[in-house]
Amino acid sequence: MSNGFIEQTEEVLLHTYNRFPVIFDHGKGVYLYDEDGKEYLDFAAGIAVSSLGYGNQEIAQTMKDQIDKLCHISNLYYTRPILNAAGRLAKASWMDRVFFTNSGTEAIEGALKSARKYAYSKGNGRFEFIAMNHSFHGRSMGALSVTGTEKYRTPFEPLVGGVKFAEYNNLESVKALISDKTCAVIMETLQGEGGIYPAEKEFLEGVRALCDANDILLILDEIQCGMGRTGSMFAWQDYGVKPDIMCMAKAIGNGVPVGAFAMTEKVAELSLAPGDHGTTYGGGPLVCATVDKVLEIFERDHIVDHVREVSGYLESELDKLVEEYDFVTERRGKGLIQGLVVTKPVGEISQNALEQGLVVISASTNVIRFVPPLVIEKQHVDEMIEKLKKTFAM
Ligand SMILES: *Cc1c(COP(=O)(O)O)cnc(C)c1O
Repeated sequence: MSNGFIEQTEEVLLHTYNRFPVIFDHGKGVYLYDEDGKEYLDFAAGIAVSSLGYGNQEIAQTMKDQIDKLCHISNLYYTRPILNAAGRLAKASWMDRVFFTNSGTEAIEGALKSARKYAYSKGNGRFEFIAMNHSFHGRSMGALSVTGTEKYRTPFEPLVGGVKFAEYNNLESVKALISDKTCAVIMETLQGEGGIYPAEKEFLEGVRALCDANDILLILDEIQCGMGRTGSMFAWQDYGVKPDIMCMAKAIGNGVPVGAFAMTEKVAELSLAPGDHGTTYGGGPLVCATVDKVLEIFERDHIVDHVREVSGYLESELDKLVEEYDFVTERRGKGLIQGLVVTKPVGEISQNALEQGLVVISASTNVIRFVPPLVIEKQHVDEMIEKLKKTFAM
């Protein structure tokens, strides 16, 4: 971790990240290895992406086989992988229609367009979005427009118009923003980047009821919290309310670049039609063969049940840290997406953890975020806590 690191890496990358001074080379299970062969226990999973861990030979073989058959063909044609992946994803997400994108951000873009088109077809003059403070939905102009952190938005204004921001978990603040121009409410079921805040049940139920009463669509962003992480396949499925449109990405491909937005038939009937939306690469056979295999493994290996089993242990071990350390003030989260609120600089903690052979990331400005591969076992929780304690002592 010398000062010469940057020169040594001959960095010409645009400086959009404060990268940690490590060059990762490969991974196996829940461990990562740098170029010097040093081992790291991974509690970040590439930001909630590599849920089945690294070096899964079944997934790798699926990809290799598909590379030999067909990598790209265009959405003008069907392939077996897109049909299989869409079928599995619709079933797992309890949605009727699926559109594959290349990223989470693009899934958000598609969801926003879907809502606008739905209102347009109805001719009800609605176009406004209500989004949430401290939300994160991506960096493109549309996704940024509904992202509730001002410092991300301000340099790029004017953004997409007609967006108002409510307080997350505050139903009255949503109610106050509803007008006869509101077309959709968009939010994460559990705010990730914003600091690991799960939606309260009454809040989500209340928003759903407000939407129903006013012919407003509910868009849930499950890009980070979905795909088994909270202990249900998608986080909202535990709440007893259903979104009209939902966004997925990150873990659905276990590392291949993929996202998706999905909707109910009611929305689909009046929403995007041929010519309204498209993508060259989205839903390509290589990516879809992978998504299909990942979903197959989730079902077959009961990954969601495993999350329910192991996450209670993680929660109780993290709670002990809140008891033990004055600068650790709170734990928040659900399943295997957890945050510890700290009063010490969280960037330094992540950096020091790397030296101890532990990968953890931050959320917001003061939260250590734990989003490990979903296949961790109790022994990995123990190992993480041990490394974290050493980190705290640095
Ligand atoms: C990561 C993330 C996005 C953006 O996804 P990308 O694949 O990086 O474009 C959007 N919403 C949430 C909640 C996310 O965590």
